[in-house]
Amino acid sequence: CGIVGYAGTRPALGIVLDGLRRLEYRGYDSAGVAIVCDDELLTEKKAGKLANLEKVLGERAGGDATGCPDGAVGIGDGTTGIGHTRWATHGGPTDRNAHPHLAPDGRVAVIHNGIIENFAKLRGELEADGVQFSSDTDTECAAHLLSAALADLRAAGEPEGPALLAAAMRAVCQRLEGAFTLLAVDAAIPGAVVGARRNSPLVVGRGDGENYLASDVAAFIEHTRDAVELGQDQIVLITGETIEITDFAGRPATGKDFHIDWDA
Ligand code: GLU
Repeated sequence: CGIVGYAGTRPALGIVLDGLRRLEYRGYDSAGVAIVCDDELLTEKKAGKLANLEKVLGERAGGDATGCPDGAVGIGDGTTGIGHTRWATHGGPTDRNAHPHLAPDGRVAVIHNGIIENFAKLRGELEADGVQFSSDTDTECAAHLLSAALADLRAAGEPEGPALLAAAMRAVCQRLEGAFTLLAVDAAIPGAVVGARRNSPLVVGRGDGENYLASDVAAFIEHTRDAVELGQDQIVLITGETIEITDFAGRPATGKDFHIDWDA
């Protein structure tokens, strides 16, 4: 339902949670975040209002969701992150069905708006290969497919780095049918967030040394008013310094640049 991503130099958690709060008007039944901190992926998700998520984040961060005890690397410290508010379509509104969804090794996280129409077929194929699912969502198959695509690219000798994440997302999107805005992070690729869209909106916010992704500009309007609307079937890769857009086949593409001039 609501999607936010951030790559930059400031702690991502507070920025992502603020963005989700600005998308609350759309309604939702659960919320979750995934933050990359050094080369670790730290996630939390909870059914119910954002306040429920913030409560568990606060408990885990030693009473302060946006900071961590000195010396300990925690979810409040990472400067790359994604967050989601869910409006359940497949699987009830429970903690386990909330996004993000992770690959079994806990290194790759995916959030999704929309419906993956061919998820039952994809899930069947993955389960036949021995993949174990931990939710009832259509989304989870995208996390497993992305993890497998990353492993394939690494096995083929592709160099580590943000471009690998975009290439893996392209491979996944070629297999998905339906409507989706997807964002993903990989713990092994800190500093990068990849997004993809088909039949569902995704906008980029251009910052100074930081960039944003969201399902709606409202999520980042307090930080920047320079935006790029992605076209149909496009992939976008952001780092703090770069925004790269391609189509699902990997050809360079451009979105639609615009300036948000209405009052927030
Ligand atoms: N179909 C996904 C689910 O049920 C995403 C729903 C949404 O757009 O929030 O989890």
